[in-house]
Amino acid sequence: MDYLTLNNKVKIPQLGFGTWKLKPLGEAKKATKYALEVGYRHIDTAHIYLNEHSVGKAIAESGIARKDIFITTKLWNWDQKHAHRAFDESLKKLGVEYIDLYLMHYPVTETRLQAWKDMEEIYKSGRAKAIGVSNFAIRHLEQLLKNSQVVPAINQVELHPFLYQKELMGYCKSKDIAVEAYSPLVHGERMDNPVISEIANKHKKTNAQVLLRWNLQHGNIVIPKSKTPGRIKENFEVFDFELAKEEMLKLNGLNEGLIVFWDTEKTP
Ligand code: NDP
Repeated sequence: MDYLTLNNKVKIPQLGFGTWKLKPLGEAKKATKYALEVGYRHIDTAHIYLNEHSVGKAIAESGIARKDIFITTKLWNWDQKHAHRAFDESLKKLGVEYIDLYLMHYPVTETRLQAWKDMEEIYKSGRAKAIGVSNFAIRHLEQLLKNSQVVPAINQVELHPFLYQKELMGYCKSKDIAVEAYSPLVHGERMDNPVISEIANKHKKTNAQVLLRWNLQHGNIVIPKSKTPGRIKENFEVFDFELAKEEMLKLNGLNEGLIVFWDTEKTP
């Protein structure tokens, strides 16, 4: 497992386990528990996924020390006016005393600056070891940087070869904001692409593993989700091979601006 160091020196496992759409109770708890067994030490959840409680239970029952697990959760849009309260609720649901990374889920136009101020206070209290944003385009980040004290540690955005956000990645790098790729497996929608299959066959790896490797080699943090034990394990086995430069270029060339989730440019 590789770790990256965020702009405030906090270390984050470069590969994490995504939990969106894992149903509360049975499914989310079982899948998260299995992910921890396999070796994941970074779990990405959110208030709006409605599974923080199950993720927390899985962590508690795993027997792994809290300090060895990196937990991310997110502030949902309608909670931006009372971030302190929402944060306390997330802590309670997860059953932990601190969060490793607290993200603003969306740059809601009317409330994002005030919400960030509250998140800065939470960060300064030590109860969130790092704070960051999600779904922020360059202009949202520019506005935030002009109006804040703490530079976000992370911007979590949709990122895969079919949506190769080169300019955004470059901008984040120039500001020392780490990029975290969500929907790195294109939400399962491009799994059979022949260019990816050819590269995967060459390395005796799967298409999913090639997709994850592409993000890792771009220096991004990556958080694939699966409810299927075999796939959870498969997605973790990505540190024993490397894509060649020309393979990376081929994959970069798949960019078609495909957005499977949310167009960040839509938010003013
Ligand atoms: P992913 O790109 O991780 O794809 C998940 C889909 O791919 C599921 O249908 C899964 O099926 C399938 N899959 C997983 N592994 C494999 C594999 N090895 N082979 C074939 N198919 C596979 O999508 P997500 O959109 O869930 O993104 C990942 C995480 O990113 C989320 O869970 C969430 O934590 C975060 N996220 C954050 C957002 C934000 O706004 N900040 C927005 C969207 C996601 P199955 O589960 O049936 O195995």
